[in-house]
Amino acid sequence: MYRRPPLRNRPAPRRILVSGASIAGPTLAYWLHRYGFDVTVVEKASAIRGGGYAIDIRGTARDVVDRMGLLPRLREAHVNSEQITFLHPDGSELAAIRPEFATGGAAGLDLEVRRGDLADCLYAAVEGKVEFLFRDSIATLHDTGEQVDVTFDSGIRRTFDLVLGADGLHSNTRRLAFGPEEHYHRYLGYSFAGFTLPNTLGLVREAQLWNVPGRAAVLYAHEPDDALHGFLTFAQDEPPLDAFRDPHAQRDLVAAHFPETRWQIPMMVEAMRNSDDLFFDVVSQIHMPSWSRGHIALTGDAAHATSFMSGQGSSCALVSAYVLAGELATRPDHTTAFESYEKTVRGFVELNQALATAGGDVVAPRTQQQIDTRNEALLHHTDLTSGQQGREANTALALPDYEA
Ligand SMILES: Cc1cc2nc3c(=O)[nH]c(=O)nc-3n(C[C@H](O)[C@H](O)[C@H](O)COP(=O)(O)OP(=O)(O)OC[C@H]3O[C@@H](n4cnc5c(N)ncnc54)[C@H](O)[C@@H]3O)c2cc1C
Repeated sequence: MYRRPPLRNRPAPRRILVSGASIAGPTLAYWLHRYGFDVTVVEKASAIRGGGYAIDIRGTARDVVDRMGLLPRLREAHVNSEQITFLHPDGSELAAIRPEFATGGAAGLDLEVRRGDLADCLYAAVEGKVEFLFRDSIATLHDTGEQVDVTFDSGIRRTFDLVLGADGLHSNTRRLAFGPEEHYHRYLGYSFAGFTLPNTLGLVREAQLWNVPGRAAVLYAHEPDDALHGFLTFAQDEPPLDAFRDPHAQRDLVAAHFPETRWQIPMMVEAMRNSDDLFFDVVSQIHMPSWSRGHIALTGDAAHATSFMSGQGSSCALVSAYVLAGELATRPDHTTAFESYEKTVRGFVELNQALATAGGDVVAPRTQQQIDTRNEALLHHTDLTSGQQGREANTALALPDYEA
């Protein structure tokens, strides 16, 4: 049985509300509970959302899940992508590489799991130990200067010593405490649609990537009996804000960017149009001058979304949540804890946010010249920039040990 270590300056247990139960939220809840805090997690969905695309846990983030004792379970959930096949516009094969070549990951060490499997695993580590309020959301926050008065959508009113937002790219906590998303949102110039379809191609542990300048179509599958994941992304100077309000407009917009009759494009467009799990968004990051204000702080995508083009969003969420909890446990007050959290994590996050540019140049190069440069590297097996930078960024922080 786990025994709580004697932490010097252990603060009296404080009531903390965490908003969001995906990656950062349950990680934060786990460590805060372990350090003796009284934790409530509010999640707007009715349960932890399972399944989904595969994410990587690399470098410093792997140390976080190791310290949580989750490696055995995550190894079981490992999906082990073996190959990325790059295609010519006519669908013929250009080159096939190991994924680490593009991501800078370490084969045999990194974990690749479905986002929902990671969330399930993190949730299982805290279930029954902290309070979860599903199907609810923070409606209002009032920082009194001493604590935070919270009203939930359900009408419940509670008071917490601290509120920590781990509610993702479009964070509700950020909007309520720091202002509109537009102030912090950095559009990276692409939109994307993700959806699933039957695996009629029989793909196994492989991604196929088709490009023309500024556009990419990706099909990938993990295990033989898995659905196929389809992904269509396209560059556009201005974010298509109107499409957010209208699911039909989203489908029309994506379809209009993929008129080709080559490769599997027509099949993908039709599947996207008929999909009941279409996920449409812009590719963007969050950049904030400060991740805390008064008794409220943010972590994970809510504070510093890196975008899928960096491949490091989940890893950053794990590291950031771990450090935030550790600093709260070991600093004399929340203000110095928030400062120290940000000082420790910001450089690491910024290095990982910077990966998105090189990632975009691999996934969806904007010009034919960029496609040619990437293809040269693929054909001559020279390191892709994304791989070199990724290796440096994902291990750039030595994880502090708050229990030492
Ligand atoms: C298509 C795609 C591919 C990706 N690929 C990768 C990859 O390969 N590698 C990688 O590392 N990362 C990848 N990412 C990014 C990764 O998914 C995120 O960085 C990561 O999930 C961030 O975790 P988080 O816990 O901070 O936020 P999220 O996972 O976004 O979770 C936020 C949680 O808050 C909840 N929530 C939202 N609003 C409220 C509210 N008002 N009240 C209560 N709860 C709320 C949500 O329901 C959710 O459970 C990808 C993302 C996308 C979209």
